[in-house]
Amino acid sequence: MPLTELVLDGFKSFAEKTTIHFNDGITGIVGPNGSGKSNITEAIRWVMGESSAKSLRGTNMKDVIFAGSQYRKPLNKAEVTLVFDNKDHELAFDADQVSITRRILRSGDSEFLINNQQARMRDVRALFLDSGISPNSLAIISQGRVDQILNSRPEQRRLIFEEAAGVLHFKQQKEEAQTQ
Ligand code: ATP
Ligand code: MG
Repeated sequence: MPLTELVLDGFKSFAEKTTIHFNDGITGIVGPNGSGKSNITEAIRWVMGESSAKSLRGTNMKDVIFAGSQYRKPLNKAEVTLVFDNKDHELAFDADQVSITRRILRSGDSEFLINNQQARMRDVRALFLDSGISPNSLAIISQGRVDQILNSRPEQRRLIFEEAAGVLHFKQQKEEAQTQ
């Protein structure tokens, strides 16, 4: 399920709507310090259902909205769309192409869309459960995360292995069943 496109609109430093196309093979994103490379990986985690503002280097989720600069006024909305080629049907959704959109308004309202249909955060997370990627999986390693993993407690490190082994999915289902 190759990632084919990422569209950032009002997310962090991306005040201007920006589309990144991912072609076959490896894509490298290079740029000077502070040019927005980490913001791109954060946008990917955010649209996949990251719920911790702190792990996106903010204090409130609204901090992901473009906050203004010397030349531009702040914006009222951040929106990110991630498009996957799902011909191999690795994502748990019956479509050959899957787009996921997340948007947040300064008023605090936020929503998710899967192929332009409204969805809940848990629906978005469920898409990825068997794919081995998630907002916090080792598929995305942010600056400082290696140290954090090495220094984490054994129980926390265990979660990483459970996710890689595909056990986490069943564990979450069990927890859900138990709370019902
Ligand atoms: P480095 O090479 O140092 O890791 P980087 O390319 O990863 O840099 P980022 O950390 O992605 O850079 O980008 C940081 C920039 O994004 C800073 O200039 C910061 O002011 C800007 N930024 C972060 N959040 C917002 C926001 N909500 N609104 C506007 N700009 C923002
Ligand atoms: Mg960076």
